[in-house]
Amino acid sequence: MIVAKEPIAVAGPWVTEREIQYVTEAARTAWFKDHYVFNARFEKTFAEYIGVKHAVSLPHCTAAIHLSLAAGGVGPGDEVIVPDVTWIASVAPVIYVGATPVFADIKRDTWCIDPASVKAAITERTKAIVGVDLYGSMADWAELRRIADAHGLLLIEDAAESLGSEYAGRKAGALGDTGVFSFHGSKTVTTGEGGMLVTDDDRLHTRVMTLRDHGRPPGDKLFLNTEVGFKYKMSAFQAAFGLAQIERVEELIARKREIFSWYRNALEGVNGITLNAEPPGTVNSYWMVTVVLDPSLGLDKFAVMDAFAKRKIDTRPFFSPLSSLPAFAGYPQSSAHMPRHPVGAEIAQYGINLPSGYHVDEEAVSIVCGALKEIIAGA
Ligand SMILES: *Cc1c(COP(=O)(O)O)cnc(C)c1O
Repeated sequence: MIVAKEPIAVAGPWVTEREIQYVTEAARTAWFKDHYVFNARFEKTFAEYIGVKHAVSLPHCTAAIHLSLAAGGVGPGDEVIVPDVTWIASVAPVIYVGATPVFADIKRDTWCIDPASVKAAITERTKAIVGVDLYGSMADWAELRRIADAHGLLLIEDAAESLGSEYAGRKAGALGDTGVFSFHGSKTVTTGEGGMLVTDDDRLHTRVMTLRDHGRPPGDKLFLNTEVGFKYKMSAFQAAFGLAQIERVEELIARKREIFSWYRNALEGVNGITLNAEPPGTVNSYWMVTVVLDPSLGLDKFAVMDAFAKRKIDTRPFFSPLSSLPAFAGYPQSSAHMPRHPVGAEIAQYGINLPSGYHVDEEAVSIVCGALKEIIAGA
C-alpha cells in the first residue's frame, strides 16, 4: 500500500517575503489618516484585475453575500434561487435577510447551477439568483444573465472558488450584478480570513458602503447613522497581506493550473473518473482538483476519504446537497422545485477534492494518484 512519508494536506497558502514585508509595514504605518491605505490599494488592484469599477474589502465572503442581498433589497417573503450543491456560505445569508432559499440542480459537466432548473424554480416571489463557480468551474453566465434580465432579478456571482477563472473573456466575479470572493486560508488568494465584493453598479456600491458601516453614509464623521446596518470591515493587516497576494496573482493562478496539469497527466487513461471541466470559452483556475468516481465503482466519497486517510493523504468530500442536510430540514419549501432525480445528488455522493494547495509538488501528486489508482482497484 502506498503511504505518504509526510502527511499531505489538502489546501494551503503560498506566502513569500512580500506578504511579510507588507504586513509589517501595515503594523507600523496603517493608523490615523493612513488607516485605510492598504485596504484602498488592495481594493484598487483587485478591481483592476477583475475588470470592474468597485471593490470593497470585507471580513469574509459570507459578509459579501449578505451585503449583496441586503443592498439589492432582498428581504422577508422573497425567494432566492441557489444551487443545491455548494458551500453553505452561498446560501446562509439568504436566511440572514429573512428570505427563502430555493434550490436548483447543478450541471453534470461543470457542477455549477443548471439554468434549466433555475427557470423551473422561478415564481412571482423570486427576487435574486446566486450562481456559484464551483471548484473553479464557470457557471453558464450568458444564460443566467438572460434569465435574470427577463425576470428583473438580482444576479449574484459567488466567485469564492474561482478567482482567476474566465468566461467569454471576462474574469470570474465580473459576470453578476455583484461578485463575491473569499480569502479564507484554503482559497486561491488568501488573507487568512477575508472577502471582497465587486460591482460595476454605483447604486449597489453606495448601498454596500453604507450597510457595511452601521448605516453611516460614506464620509459621515458625525455619527448620524441613517439606518441600522452591519459592521463588515477588513483590517489593514489582512489588506496588506492581500495586496501582496494579488500583486502575485498571475504566479498563483499559473501554479494552480500547473498542479492540475500534473494530476491530469498522472491520471490519464484511468477509467471511471471525471476531473474538473474547462469547456470552450472558459478558463478554469482549478481551486480544488476534484475527482468524481463512476457510481459503478461502488466507492462513495466517505469510503474514498477513509482510504486516503490511511495513506496519510488529506482530502475533502464534494459538498453534500444542502437539501439533504439537517441545517435545512426546517425549510421544506426550499426543495419544492427540485427535479425528481437531481444530478447534484449523484455527483456529490462520489466526488472528492484532492490535495491542491501550493505546498503540493509533482512528487506529492504522483503519490496521491498512485494511491487513487490503488483505491479504485480495490487494493
Ligand atoms: C469559501 C466559500 C464561501 C465563504 O467564504 P468565507 O470567506 O469563509 O465567508 C462562500 N462560497 C463559496 C462557494 C466558498 O467556497
